[in-house]
Amino acid sequence: MLKTDKIKIQEIDIPNYEKVIHAVYPTVGLNCFIAIHNTTLGPALGGTRIYPYKNEESALEDVLLLAKAMTYKSALAETGLGGGKAVIIANPETQKTKNLLLAYGEVVNYLKGRYIAAEDVGSTIHDMLIVNEQTPYVAALPTAESSGDPSRFTARGVYWGIKAAGKTLWGSDSLKDKKIAIQGLGSVGSKLARHLFWEGAILYVTDLEQTQIQNICKEYSAEGVGRDEIMQIECDIFTPCALGGILNEETIPHLACKGVAGSANNQLLYNHNGTDLMEREILYAPDFVINAGGIINAAAEFDEGGYSARKAMDQTNKIYNTLLAIFDIAHEERKPTVQVAFELAEYKLKNKIGKREKPITF
Ligand code: NAD
Repeated sequence: MLKTDKIKIQEIDIPNYEKVIHAVYPTVGLNCFIAIHNTTLGPALGGTRIYPYKNEESALEDVLLLAKAMTYKSALAETGLGGGKAVIIANPETQKTKNLLLAYGEVVNYLKGRYIAAEDVGSTIHDMLIVNEQTPYVAALPTAESSGDPSRFTARGVYWGIKAAGKTLWGSDSLKDKKIAIQGLGSVGSKLARHLFWEGAILYVTDLEQTQIQNICKEYSAEGVGRDEIMQIECDIFTPCALGGILNEETIPHLACKGVAGSANNQLLYNHNGTDLMEREILYAPDFVINAGGIINAAAEFDEGGYSARKAMDQTNKIYNTLLAIFDIAHEERKPTVQVAFELAEYKLKNKIGKREKPITF
């Protein structure tokens, strides 16, 4: 049992964020930031990213961006949750120990439920069980009452999002014989490949792991391509399912796709890169809209009567209609899709649409 009084917790004042903390406990190697961006619609729920950031500045920058995106994601999906995120500066392969996760649990507990932790890149639902030993404020656990692995819902939502892009681009949501290039074959990308394969899509795939490329190529008759090639492949949809910042001034001119629709968070390096995509007539499915399946599933465990996978699925499927509406408005108003999505989310926040009515009991 670790005690919070051993952990140094410092509050950082960041404009437009409700609460940001930096927690350090060198004995167990803990150095983390938790950002609570906005809890207008409910407590902040967001994943715990464990990543070997090169310094504290880049970790803080990432957690702020990710927490804000969670606010917009939850607002648009009407989960009754707010936006927050945590990052731990550590290599998940070599530095993720039980004591580090327990100390992190103490930090989450310190926030008294205003932030609810979940898994993210570098952490797993099994890690969250350890965090849960120190705090009740954890979601998406591999337990009977909890919602479990969010990635199957994220993948399903991205699948529907790609279909919405198809409907807008070529007038049909069938993906048969459409060329789709997937960057990243982890929890989401590999499950998405299965959905697309059974629909008859032609897949081009890449990952850091050669064995993962080989497995997916064999299972789904995909073509493996180099990491540097995937964004330049001539295809119908480019699907980023790895890390963020990949749509920028350097990469956008080389894209040879009609649309971008994938799960990765913060795909645009800067928001103005949404305009660059529009100018190239590439349809962009805003990441915080298309990748909401996971948060929708996690939020479902707080529903009255308990978690229902079917309800989570029904709500995830609505991503199709939300994106169609965003694409239509963007077309009519000649705005980048990401701007339309921001405006829609801000409207919901301002008018408290989808606000949680009863507090969550833990
Ligand atoms: P993951 O860690 O399981 O998979 C990521 C994969 O990308 C790994 O296989 C990794 O080897 C590969 N990768 C990393 N860098 C790469 C590169 N430069 N080129 C090619 N491949 C690369 O993560 P995940 O859970 O599948 O999530 C993928 C993305 O979707 C992340 O950005 C995550 O934040 C986002 N996301 C995930 C969920 C979810 O439910 N898991 C929900 C919302 C958003």
